[in-house]
Amino acid sequence: MAHEFGHAVQGRSGILASKNWLRSEAPSNSASLQIARRNETQADCLAGIFVRSVSRSLGLQQADVAAIEDGFASGGDDVVTGKKGIEGTTAWPGPGATGARPD
Ligand SMILES: [Zn+2]
Repeated sequence: MAHEFGHAVQGRSGILASKNWLRSEAPSNSASLQIARRNETQADCLAGIFVRSVSRSLGLQQADVAAIEDGFASGGDDVVTGKKGIEGTTAWPGPGATGARPD
């Protein structure tokens, strides 16, 4: 749900339109997929910001936050085969949730 909030922010800010244009102009399928992955990881980061913004009003406790982080960590993993999701994607909600800034 929070991830979809991230996409809503991307949509309203024009990021999704830019992403779609960049993908249409990508020189290869690999480059297009990289743009898509970056868009998804940005949505995860925005999801972390969303969770942080509502945590107080929802009365989230540390255990709730840990459960949410576990949910992000397992996102994209294939529970049938045990294969992990896209590498690195689980790192993005944390900076959004903690208010970390880029170096
Ligand atoms: Zn998404």
